[in-house]
Amino acid sequence: MLKLDFHPAGRHFLQIPGPSPVPDRILRAISYPTIDHRGPEFGALGLQVLANIKKIFKTEQPVVIYPASGTGAWEAALTNTLSPGDTVLMYETGHFATLWQKMAEALGLKPEFIGLPGIEGWRRGVQADMIEERLRKDAQHAIKAVCVVHNETSTGVTSDIAAVRKAIDAAGHPALLLVDTISGLASADYRHDEWGVDVTVSGSQKGLMLPPGISFNAVSKKALAAAKTAKLPKAFWAWGEIIEMNASGYWPYTPNTNLLYGLSEALEMIMEEGLDNVFARHQRLAKACRAAVKAWGLEVQCADPAVYSPVLTGVMTPSGFDADVIRKIIYQNFNMSLGTGLGKMKGGMFRIGHLGEANDLSLMATLAGCEMGLKLAGVPLAGSGVAAAMNDLTSDKRSRD
Ligand SMILES: *Cc1c(COP(=O)(O)O)cnc(C)c1O
Repeated sequence: MLKLDFHPAGRHFLQIPGPSPVPDRILRAISYPTIDHRGPEFGALGLQVLANIKKIFKTEQPVVIYPASGTGAWEAALTNTLSPGDTVLMYETGHFATLWQKMAEALGLKPEFIGLPGIEGWRRGVQADMIEERLRKDAQHAIKAVCVVHNETSTGVTSDIAAVRKAIDAAGHPALLLVDTISGLASADYRHDEWGVDVTVSGSQKGLMLPPGISFNAVSKKALAAAKTAKLPKAFWAWGEIIEMNASGYWPYTPNTNLLYGLSEALEMIMEEGLDNVFARHQRLAKACRAAVKAWGLEVQCADPAVYSPVLTGVMTPSGFDADVIRKIIYQNFNMSLGTGLGKMKGGMFRIGHLGEANDLSLMATLAGCEMGLKLAGVPLAGSGVAAAMNDLTSDKRSRD
């Protein structure tokens, strides 16, 4: 085993917004012996996970599973549907939207990057009217796809995907709608079919509670049709042969067998709890977390209450206090990892993950670690966030049976 010189007692608090803590049930499932990926047992597993994952995306269409991180599924979404030189309209909500835009450029597409200026754009969700306005001007239909991030993990802001769909339809534009919900899936309400999304991109290590290593493309009929003429080079990522072989539960290459055991277990856990209950639990924890931030007298990164993320909360630090110094103090003293500020927000915020198997007490411990760390860093606090969050979490509980 790798020797580390940091061995505090107890479990590490992995409170970054992905990877999220992997529940024991899933770790045990992953530890089963690897089986023959061409054998009959594997085919049954393949069919089961391919059927059940559709319920999480809320789709009747194929979901492609790759043995890759989310970034690979981003590339798959673009290369399967688009051709060199195609214009794509991408919306800047934060760091992950920016990385996807850079990838589009690297692949030979022409991304047009729109959004609200400066930090403002990183504090609000997608402004669907800006997309509609741009598409209305594109009379020649040069724009082939609209790309948006559903849950912007760098800021803790969600976007209204149904409103984006409406904007595209209102403009009478044929562009495909590609959506990244890598950190939203299985934590925040998502509806691939109902919202008319053409490709939904997701990953394993956030709401699905798995380790990193598998990712997804949910694919509409329109996207499958576009794939027939799309000319960007692709081989490993090509949907065609994968979907064909998936019909019998297999893949054209060696899939990630053990992570698929984990996926099967994760899907069972989510179905046992009920998808709507999972969403409600995330909303409840996010609300209590925001109550804590408010009580500390600090600001939540998301400036629009209509689109607060249920997955994570971005906390802005007062000027003169480097958020990464605070994170380091918390890591060293309390063995807890928090998300760093990314891109434009480097040093100006930290991110609290409350996703996956999070519950009331895991959130309370996390907030206690934050509060102690903020005090040790000398940040002046208006009051106790821990007390505020406890009040919030008990407000809807009964005191006796
Ligand atoms: C985590 C994340 C990614 C990147 O996924 P990897 O698995 O790190 O490749 C992309 N977009 C969003 C919104 C994410 O949260």
